[in-house]
Amino acid sequence: MSIDETSGKRTQRSERFDPSGRDDVEQFRDLCYELLRYSARGLLRKDFLPRVSETIRRHSGCHATEIWVKEGSDKHFRCSVTEAKKMPFGFILVPCPLGEETTPPPDDPNEFDTEKLCCHVIKGSIDRLHPYVTVRGSFWANDLVDAKGSDGPAGQTSQTPILRLGGPYKSVVLLPIRLEEECIGLLQLKSKKDAFFSARDIDFYEDISAVLGVALSHQYAQVELRERIKEITCLYGIARVVAQPEASFDEIIQGIVRLLPPAWLYPEITCARIVLNGQSYATENFRESPYRQVSDIVVENKRVGFVEVVYLENKLTLDEGPFLAEERSLIDSVAREVAIYYERAKAEEEKTSLQEQLRHADRLATIGQLAAGVAHELNEPLGNILGFAQLAKKSPELPAQVEKDLENIESASLNAREIIKKLMTFARQLPPKKEPVNLNDIVNDGIYFFEARCMKAGIKLVRRLAADLPEITVDPGQINQVLVNLVVNAIQAMPQGGTLTVETSATKAEICFSVEDTGTGMTEELKDRIFLPFFTTKDVDEGTGLGLAVVHGIVTSHGGKILVETKAGKGTRFRVHLPFFNPEKPDESKA
Ligand code: ADP
Ligand code: MG
Repeated sequence: MSIDETSGKRTQRSERFDPSGRDDVEQFRDLCYELLRYSARGLLRKDFLPRVSETIRRHSGCHATEIWVKEGSDKHFRCSVTEAKKMPFGFILVPCPLGEETTPPPDDPNEFDTEKLCCHVIKGSIDRLHPYVTVRGSFWANDLVDAKGSDGPAGQTSQTPILRLGGPYKSVVLLPIRLEEECIGLLQLKSKKDAFFSARDIDFYEDISAVLGVALSHQYAQVELRERIKEITCLYGIARVVAQPEASFDEIIQGIVRLLPPAWLYPEITCARIVLNGQSYATENFRESPYRQVSDIVVENKRVGFVEVVYLENKLTLDEGPFLAEERSLIDSVAREVAIYYERAKAEEEKTSLQEQLRHADRLATIGQLAAGVAHELNEPLGNILGFAQLAKKSPELPAQVEKDLENIESASLNAREIIKKLMTFARQLPPKKEPVNLNDIVNDGIYFFEARCMKAGIKLVRRLAADLPEITVDPGQINQVLVNLVVNAIQAMPQGGTLTVETSATKAEICFSVEDTGTGMTEELKDRIFLPFFTTKDVDEGTGLGLAVVHGIVTSHGGKILVETKAGKGTRFRVHLPFFNPEKPDESKA
């Protein structure tokens, strides 16, 4: 017998008669079986505890049971079950009223407070020699009176304990639930009847409470296992989605989003979205909700977006938030996977774009060679035409008409020679004559000639020239040509007026200048072809299609590069980068 029998206070205890006629061992076996069966089902704690409480309540025949489970160091989950029909059970997370307090409960039973008492039982800070405490650390009182009865009939001895139970329970047992030496919770049995629990009952339920410890840890392991499986399934699914060779970036991110809700505890009310670079990928049912979990997607120390999982309605608190700890780590893993994929996709895209640029440069170089060859071949006969025309013009007494025709031949040949010169610049046949210059000067001189034209066309001219721009060794005539060609194009792109911005800037390695307009802009197809010689969208007298070809030739011969950003209907920006040190012709640029 595990009860301190020396106390004379529990005289009303009685042995209850079990109508089923089964002995304790049989009953114990049946109840254990039932508890363990629940625990093997992998129910969530909020479903598991009420079932177990109710099973024990029915078995004991008492009015109410309550199970407390420790959560962290200072909180308890409480699940109470009563006989009442309505609201058969409640389930809440409550901070331990003791806090850090460790002083044992008062000896005077009149000062007992159930809440605190329960916490003392769980903490083991209750005196085992206390008359109401068993050697296994349970609290057992069979003869309580209602708190209201404290000023009851005279003659009531001060020994009658008064518990603030918030209900008229006369018999109460508080049993610690232990798992291997550690106390993980408490089982409460309460009856309105006097002397309801016998010593045998206490012994019996102390054993049951030990089994309950095992059942609880089993239940927890089951849930944990199931969540782990969901997590692994989700991550495996992501690995498979990402490995699809044919899928586009958007399809893959959308595929990942779809895998998220099933991995969460309540898939039916879960929705998810991934936001990457401002682009949102969401499940169909996505709505904003306060019950959300977010993890940042970080690439190279920069936040490029986030993964968000949302419950559409509030769910009972399961851990510290509405989400499980495993779910918090899962969403972080998903964000990491997305970051890795994003990085890879970006690298792939850069590679493709680089290859495209190389192909483009290669094509331009081939055309350049061809153009240079043709230009060279034409230069000689053209020189002859010009020479003979000029010679013929000198003959005396030419009829006026013939003289006019000869002049036309002369000016047409000069025009053709201009074109050939441009072609040769494009083909880099004319070597640049380099000298150190300040690019701001070139810009100021070049722009000067356009001021009047811009004013007439309703174009606002904006200069953003970097102060302290270092000098750079370039061919000033050629760079001026680049600027003029870009500015002419920009003005032509703004027939209705707009803003023309010329900007200069410098880094350690290069000087950069840009010409930006708010004009027509270009489509992708158009943009791909603008550097080809003779490509033009303009009327015959407006453009030859050689402007940008020449620009390209000059910039390339300076070891630089030219970038185009454009949007149809919005405008265009050409950026020219000129390195201080030309890797192609190292000796020249050092001059
Ligand atoms: P051209 O100006 O003689 O047509 P370019 O080589 O200078 O030849 O330009 C080629 C084509 O590129 C132009 O016909 C035009 O379609 C397009 N383009 C060039 N610059 C711009 C710009 N700033 N805005 C819109 N389109 C442009
Ligand atoms: Mg042009």
